Amino acid sequence: MNVIETQNLSKKYGQKIVLDNVNFCLKEGEIYGLVGRNGAGKTTLIREILGLASPTSGTVAINGAMSRDALEYERKKIGSLIDFPALMPHVSAYENMKAVALQFGCFDDGEIKDILHKVGLNADDHLKVKNFSLGMKQRLAIGITLLGHPNVLILDEPVNGLDPTGIFEVRELIQRLNREDGVTILISSHLLSELSRVATTYGVMEGGKLVKEMRGSDLEELCKPYIKVTFDDLKLALKVVLDNYHAHDYEILPYNTLAIYDLSKPVSEVVKMFTDANVKFNSITECQGDLESTFIALMGGLHGDDDNK
Ligand code: ADP
Repeated sequence: MNVIETQNLSKKYGQKIVLDNVNFCLKEGEIYGLVGRNGAGKTTLIREILGLASPTSGTVAINGAMSRDALEYERKKIGSLIDFPALMPHVSAYENMKAVALQFGCFDDGEIKDILHKVGLNADDHLKVKNFSLGMKQRLAIGITLLGHPNVLILDEPVNGLDPTGIFEVRELIQRLNREDGVTILISSHLLSELSRVATTYGVMEGGKLVKEMRGSDLEELCKPYIKVTFDDLKLALKVVLDNYHAHDYEILPYNTLAIYDLSKPVSEVVKMFTDANVKFNSITECQGDLESTFIALMGGLHGDDDNK
């Protein structure tokens, strides 16, 4: 089922096109990773979905609702974290959650304790938020979005600025919420590596357009490790390769180069295989799938409209 859908959604600020005919679809149960350089339009798309900005043209539907009133009703069921929330530094995590719950008229002591437990914080801990690590603050912020049991969460750059431990904890939390509570999640980041291993679907934004969508498994395939061998004479090498590998185990790259994806033979054996067949090679390297270069390639190269904000 489509939880959120946009059709030809566009947004202009003055003459500047910030969203350009975006057809985006978030399906129930997904963790959708929205990736794109700073300035690509991710936050604007999220703001349009949440009704924080109005479209210049195009539509947003949430759970099929498109009219203003119905959208407003559906949006209330979405938990979101766009800007870092104003946490109260001089009180505990529990007190922070309680204050927000009271403000929204949904105070429930048991629910707050459950949520704090879920995000890895302790309701009985009196540690003041000003002494929290950034990762703890971010988990608390996500906890606040869980008040009222939303079945959809939208998190804009939730791991921005976190250290590797903080990124790991937030990733793990997102996966747990999805797996254990069935929460559908849209999460954005300007770094693909931060979203890797979390998302089930990826959407790449560039210059206001949604330029590519793919399954998590497709991304793994694009980034898989391989052995790269460069030859003087690729034709001779291919004879050896045909005898030793299946067609899907290798790929011919430019400049007399082969990528071998079947790693059942280690490099030393590959070396022996070509040497025994008297095929000369110029270099042989083990290459790790590189997420960031895959990401850059997906966005069409290094040149982009990067605001570097
Ligand atoms: P991202 O979240 O991918 O970094 P944004 O959606 O924040 O991208 O921004 C996309 C582009 O829209 C940027 O060039 C930004 O400067 C511009 N933009 C965003 N909000 C406004 C606004 N309120 N007025 C004018 N330009 C804006």
